[in-house]
Amino acid sequence: MTETSTAAPIETDAHIDTLVAAAVAAGDRWAATDPAERERIVVAVADALEADADRLIPIARQETNLAEPRLRGELKRTAFQLRLLARVAAAGDHLDVRVDHPDTDWPMGAPRPDLRRTSVPLGPVVVFGASNFPFAFSVAGGDTAAALAAGCPVIYKSHRGHPELSAATAETVTAALAAHGAPDGLFATVSSQAEGRAALAHPDVKAGAFTGGIPGGRALFDLAQSRPEPIPFYGELGSVNPVFVTEAAAAGRAQEIVDAFIGSFTLGQGQFCTKPGLLLVPAASSFTDLLRAAALPAGHRLLNPGIAQGHHQVREELAGRADVSVLAGGGGEVDPPLATLLSTDVDTLVAHFDELFVECFGPTALVVVYRDEAQLLDVARALDGQLTATLIAEDDDAIVGPLATILTRKAGRLLWNQWPTGVSVTYAQQHGGPYPASTASGTTSVGTAALNRFVRPVAWQGFPQHLLPGELRDDQTLPAPRRVDGHLEAGSRE
Ligand code: NAP
Repeated sequence: MTETSTAAPIETDAHIDTLVAAAVAAGDRWAATDPAERERIVVAVADALEADADRLIPIARQETNLAEPRLRGELKRTAFQLRLLARVAAAGDHLDVRVDHPDTDWPMGAPRPDLRRTSVPLGPVVVFGASNFPFAFSVAGGDTAAALAAGCPVIYKSHRGHPELSAATAETVTAALAAHGAPDGLFATVSSQAEGRAALAHPDVKAGAFTGGIPGGRALFDLAQSRPEPIPFYGELGSVNPVFVTEAAAAGRAQEIVDAFIGSFTLGQGQFCTKPGLLLVPAASSFTDLLRAAALPAGHRLLNPGIAQGHHQVREELAGRADVSVLAGGGGEVDPPLATLLSTDVDTLVAHFDELFVECFGPTALVVVYRDEAQLLDVARALDGQLTATLIAEDDDAIVGPLATILTRKAGRLLWNQWPTGVSVTYAQQHGGPYPASTASGTTSVGTAALNRFVRPVAWQGFPQHLLPGELRDDQTLPAPRRVDGHLEAGSRE
């Protein structure tokens, strides 16, 4: 699966020049299009995807080994995401409009000028999707939806794990955009890594978005930063997603926690970036016995040979260590693998953190036994950036306060007595985190705040009313579409 050479040369061929030139021209028109019209067109893409479900799902099944119900659910989520982002973008919340009227008594010691701040689309965005969400983080997935809805053209690098599905989805997207009057060149795809890098390096591209593993994400982030004009690169990468079980929770509901944990780490064969890959449990509990005795689900083929090989390699490296034991499951073919629970203790984990605290993408997790709850703080302090951190605890557990304080510095989403798999597309969702969970910890790739990544603030100082963008005028301090289309009133949260 790997063509990934971080040192590979950047190709700048005529094909990429043509795509980017078309994207720039389309982007100018798209940015100037009335936001309500942009919403209508993005919603048309969502409708077209749903209408094409019976054509797309069988291709997805064939290329990813994922089951039909899961794929249908994911396609529904993808269409929902397009519609929600289109509607919120049309309402203009992501523009973060601020209006300062002139103030001669402004206390800084000099008069305040008339200053009005809004945001404009960045321009062409290159998007790289992941293999484990062939719809929701792929051709028409969250990054594409957010960029288009925010007013940016997209050049999408197709994933080699589902090339036919990518081509078929792109056909649907392109046809819907054309049929509903979007400018030519607004959306295009490339297929090789070299083309993806060339597009990202092109001087007229203004941002990159990526979902995938750390090596590829880091290489592309470095490329985006090393351009003569560095550009934002929103990479959502891997994560271990530790779960902290307190002594009281373990004493009161061990079997329930064991069952829920097994359900979460084996969901989708463990092929989720939010899979709980590490469970911390007290030594003085029945946990390890319950886990040893637990029935693990049967093996199922993984997404593709590259993912299967990667899982096998990391699992074997962990299981082969003298300081790690196999608690349950394990073995099986490289593909399908059997679910595996490995075990060690906190002292070993902290002493060999870089080797043991690693993402094993697939149905494997590490159970780590602690002597006393103070060791939970040691583990929390040692963590690098995570997408999620989970507390399985009781309301009056004294450790929860200090633990949560540390974890807010480490993770993008904290969970209380719930499990991290399943990332709802909502207004308050935060899917990101400090590096290496993401390359831009101030942003999210899921939820409506994902729109903010693809606009840039501009302040207008002293301009006459008729020359200001609509949303900045005194008679229209809210973005125009929010006033006229009636879809979403200011500040409303459905
Ligand atoms: P991947 O192998 O990193 O691939 C992602 C995309 O980037 C693919 O299109 C790939 O091209 C491209 N790519 C990778 N390195 C590149 C390079 N040096 N130059 C140009 N293009 C490059 O990731 P994956 O196998 O699809 O996904 C598995 C990983 O994604 C797991 O670690 C998982 O945790 C993570 N993930 C994260 C999230 C999140 O939201 N944070 C969500 C889902 C998955 P090719 O297809 O040609 O190889």
